[in-house]
Amino acid sequence: MIRFEQVSKVYSGGFQALNRVNFSVEPGEMAFLTGHSGAGKSTLLKLITAIEKPTTGKVWVHGHDIGKLARSKVPFLRRQIGIIFQDHNLLMDKSVKDNVALPLLIEGFSAGEIDKRVGAALDLVGLGDKLNYYPMHLSGGEQQRVGIARAIVTKPKLLLADEPTGNLDPKLSMEIMRLFETFNRAGTSVLIATHDLGLIARMRYRTLTLRDGAMISEAYQGAEL
Ligand code: ADP
Ligand code: ADP
Repeated sequence: MIRFEQVSKVYSGGFQALNRVNFSVEPGEMAFLTGHSGAGKSTLLKLITAIEKPTTGKVWVHGHDIGKLARSKVPFLRRQIGIIFQDHNLLMDKSVKDNVALPLLIEGFSAGEIDKRVGAALDLVGLGDKLNYYPMHLSGGEQQRVGIARAIVTKPKLLLADEPTGNLDPKLSMEIMRLFETFNRAGTSVLIATHDLGLIARMRYRTLTLRDGAMISEAYQGAEL
């Protein structure tokens, strides 16, 4: 699903954010990505979504070589990836339903199909009764779940989450993790960037650890192992 081979990223100012990183995430796997602030987590995610290109080395996503992907093919790749942000990036002047419908509108689905899929996605995250709410009338945890519904409404094979629980308390964070597990059990690959080591310890998934741009560990860090 994702494979990095000797990937380095040097930004235009000369800063080396990633240094010869190797790892892969298998189809159907769920894994954590961790490391201190500035370790290179966001850079690694930006390489997967082709927002950035590797300076050297190869990034493979869904069998595509990201470094060689034509600019015109980037939207096509991104549609196969669901992305969840810490601050959920919801449009505040649009209802929950319209926020979740957005990726389907872009893809040109019919109104009937959009209603069906948006309803199903919101049911999955437990917000089936809040279709017509506006984000400001929802709690932080509910807003994050709207962001998740929007990320999964196109049924992507890969979910990427960048600090998805950064603004949530431990109980709500766990609920969000359970949701990711639900999608993972349905066959979706999930990669979650977080520096919440407590959360990682409570779960049992492979953890990719970056330090100063180098991948220093790929071990399981869950409590049961
Ligand atoms: P993390 O997500 O782990 O906090 P980042 O990947 O965001 O780490 O950042 C890694 C390093 O790369 C940081 O030192 C950051 O300042 C630098 N960096 C990130 N993006 C850019 C950029 N576009 N140009 C220059 N430096 C950048
Ligand atoms: P986060 O790590 O919280 O996801 P970002 O990836 O946006 O945040 O940024 C991480 C770090 O990279 C920050 O310290 C930011 O100042 C730096 N950074 C981001 N973009 C640039 C850029 N274009 N030039 C220089 N530094 C950048």
